[in-house]
This record gives sequence, structure tokens and C-alpha cells, in this order.
Amino acid sequence: MIHEEPLNQEQCWQAIVTRDRTANGTFVFAVRSTGIYCRPSCPARRPRREQVIFFRQMQEAEAAQFRPCRRCYPQYASAPESQAEMIEASLSLYSNAPR
Ligand SMILES: [Zn+2]
Repeated sequence: MIHEEPLNQEQCWQAIVTRDRTANGTFVFAVRSTGIYCRPSCPARRPRREQVIFFRQMQEAEAAQFRPCRRCYPQYASAPESQAEMIEASLSLYSNAPR
């Protein structure tokens, strides 16, 4: 996992692609085209790789003028996982993606 070393962009990207919930709280990602930042497990559609910027802290994303996603609530990244799981559970009702 990602700890205090500099963010490994490739690792971060993989965490996003796989919606790795264990990566929540270790970084957030912002999407240039939307001006929104998310946590790794966000249920929203994956952005294009070249649109993504990684931040270790959500405060850094805020400072860069990005706004928190309204689906994954990255501003509460330290909140219990239950919220993210609830969101994911509701999403899976509408998705046939294999899990
Ligand atoms: Zn999100």
C-alpha cells in the first residue's frame, strides 16, 4: 500500500481502476475536465488517465480549486468505510459488473 513515500502515480491509478477501498485515505484524485476530486473507490465512471491528478491530502485538492465529489464524499475520507460500502452496494444494484 501507499504510505508516506511520494505518491506512486501508477499505483494510485491502479487503485482507482480497481476501486481499491484500502487506498481510501491514502490519496485522492482530481479530474481536470470536471474540476472534481474523488477518493480511490469512487463509484463514478473512471476518468481518462491523462485527466487525473493525484493528491495525498484532500486539502491539497481543495487548494488547487477542485471540489469534492458528491458520490464518494472525499472530504470525509477518514470517515468509516460503511458510507463508501453503502454507496457501492447501491451502485451494484444498477450494475452487472462482475465482482
Ligand atoms: Zn467521487
